[in-house]
Amino acid sequence: KELIKVALIGNPNTGKTSVFNQLTGLHQQVGNYPGITVEKKIGTCKLSETTKATIVDLPGTYSLNASSIDENVVIELLLNKNDENYPDVVVLVSEVENLKRNLLLYTQIKDFEIPTILVINMCDRMNLKGIELDIPYLEQKLNTKIALVSSRKNIGIEKIKTLILDYENLPTTPCLNASSIDPEYFENLKKAFPNQLLYKLWLIITQDVNFLNLERNQIQSPFTKSHADLKRLQQKETIKRYQFINDTLKIGQKIDLSKATDIRAKLDRVVTHKFFGYLIFFFILFGIFQS
Ligand code: GDP
Ligand code: MG
Repeated sequence: KELIKVALIGNPNTGKTSVFNQLTGLHQQVGNYPGITVEKKIGTCKLSETTKATIVDLPGTYSLNASSIDENVVIELLLNKNDENYPDVVVLVSEVENLKRNLLLYTQIKDFEIPTILVINMCDRMNLKGIELDIPYLEQKLNTKIALVSSRKNIGIEKIKTLILDYENLPTTPCLNASSIDPEYFENLKKAFPNQLLYKLWLIITQDVNFLNLERNQIQSPFTKSHADLKRLQQKETIKRYQFINDTLKIGQKIDLSKATDIRAKLDRVVTHKFFGYLIFFFILFGIFQS
């Protein structure tokens, strides 16, 4: 392929725009999405002599569950596989200090069965915070390729480009088996729409997605559930995702505050220890006075 379409997706403040700027340099254009004021930034990036990428910097989103305009931009892009803007590959930007929260969105994007590269940004802060990551283990559990990046220090940007070039070799298997949320319900959905992605159907049913209304009405009618039931199932989905993420990070991530070079982190520890020390001391004193 001569032109690879890339979507940059991630939680707010993970460094998406910084990564975008590093990848695209000055080759960017800023516009808006039709009808809404959400900013749309598109840039190009040369990957090799023969291949370029167009990169879209999408608005920051925490998950695909809530319905803000920003989230809808991301959902609508991923729902419409026939759209000319549908990405070939997603670059999901996360950062070392909030991996657990960031990975929630990662597991949801993965369930669209789209090639997804995981960027773990701000790796310059790992020593500072005493964070160690077992990248091969994380790659295997999360079923993808990872680029450990510091967009501030310009580390790992070339790795992202290499991974984008090789996107066709990324696995597209989902993280969560959507059926496990409610096996009977999803079994019926699968029968009624055999060629559709289960997670996509689930989002069309639960989300306030403006687009694909017709499709949604078709799906809605025989599969209507009460608002309360849908909320309950959404909660179950989130719990299942966090179970998976916790299991993954239990082995793949070590945080050792005693190794943190961040003076503030050390100070916090000393202060907390001192505080509890004094507290116990006063209780003992108090006890002596009482007796
Ligand atoms: P976005 O909201 O995801 O687009 O994030 P931004 O690119 O605006 O960055 C959010 C904040 O993180 C800014 O203050 C950046 O300077 C900072 N930041 C971005 N990348 C890095 C990095 O690699 N290391 C560190 N330490 N900070 C970073
Ligand atoms: Mg940004």
